[in-house]
Amino acid sequence: MSEKLLIGVEEAEKIIASFPVTPQNETAALLTAQNRFLAQDIASPLAMPEFNKSAMDGYAYISGDDPPTFKIIETIAAGTPPRLAVTPGHCAKIMTGAMLPPGADRVVKRECTREEKGFMKIIAENRNRNIRFQGEDVQAGQTVLSKGTLLQAAQIALLASLGLAEVPVACAPRIGIITTGSELIEPGGSLQPGQIFNSNFYSLAAQIKALGAVPLALGHSADDLEATTTLITARLGECDMLILSGGVSAGDFDYVPAAMKKTGIALHFEKIAVQPGMPTVFGSRRDKIVFGLPGNPVSTFVIFEIFIKPMILRLLGHAFQPLVLPAQLTEGFRRSQATRTAFIPVRYQDGQAAIVSYHGSAHLHALSRANALLRVPAGQLSIPAGSSVHVRYL
Ligand code: AMP
Ligand code: MG
Repeated sequence: MSEKLLIGVEEAEKIIASFPVTPQNETAALLTAQNRFLAQDIASPLAMPEFNKSAMDGYAYISGDDPPTFKIIETIAAGTPPRLAVTPGHCAKIMTGAMLPPGADRVVKRECTREEKGFMKIIAENRNRNIRFQGEDVQAGQTVLSKGTLLQAAQIALLASLGLAEVPVACAPRIGIITTGSELIEPGGSLQPGQIFNSNFYSLAAQIKALGAVPLALGHSADDLEATTTLITARLGECDMLILSGGVSAGDFDYVPAAMKKTGIALHFEKIAVQPGMPTVFGSRRDKIVFGLPGNPVSTFVIFEIFIKPMILRLLGHAFQPLVLPAQLTEGFRRSQATRTAFIPVRYQDGQAAIVSYHGSAHLHALSRANALLRVPAGQLSIPAGSSVHVRYL
């Protein structure tokens, strides 16, 4: 077998980022749009506030007008427009959110007044104008949310306040998962000697779901070239992206890259200088994207996080920027070789990052305690305890 070209993490990221994708869009009702990404900029059809309104329950009057008492000309409820204009010596009783009457340019809140027999007296200092002016939050036509924004409660509230019942969102891409490995049993089954439970399907499916994409179980193959090839050929058409787990290393029974090639998938790289996850394969057949991941569970998890997540988010029309936090490393890090960029699971809290005791790329228990990854660049052998580092939040 020819020697596989080893490429750096940045180069792998670049190759993946420059693979063209065409997000598909649809229109969704507001609550169906929750946790999805906007497919277009949203321009406000309205000014917000929609009209000049009172910010308080109180009395609307004219600034500087200072009679001993104001005659109350009417009571304005929210939802009913005023009937009368306010003139000197007069005020309108007004509720929060009600339309400001013509003439008035100030509201004194109820707590600063006393009302008696149709008259109002200001009895306490009245510093604020207590008016929310038309358009002071948003101008009509202004872009309020941009394409690619994740729609959560606050954004959905904004859209509803603008009167929008539905919005354009990206369609959820279908991400197929094929697991390979003759040793694997589904959780719930019972293990025979030498067998282990399939965890990679579940970690990948959970990571895919968390992004708002749809994981598809496209089957499992024993470590067999023909079986793997047949499965890929049969199921690739069902998804936008296919992720294969296992079978990409240098073992006697690692057939995935060969099977990918046999099915007409062009391989764009077959090895990244990354730890864990070095034998990661990236390929495509026309617009179908295919990743082959090493089977070690921590590798699967980390490679998804670093290389696949940004790609799926791109299919969702979102330019992913990882959350990178400054932290102080609580203990030192040391490794015997620095030929690869390492991503080390750490637990971040209150500005401190602790390396979770990590025995290698099968150590899911350590990973389950981590909430961030420490990136150690190629060439760096150690990081002293107490160092200022940056961690990538998961
Ligand atoms: P491979 O990449 O196929 O050589 O597998 C590397 C290691 O990961 C082996 O110890 C496998 O048993 C394990 N492994 C492979 N696939 C899975 C899976 N789906 N779930 C859990 N462990 C796996
Ligand atoms: Mg295997």
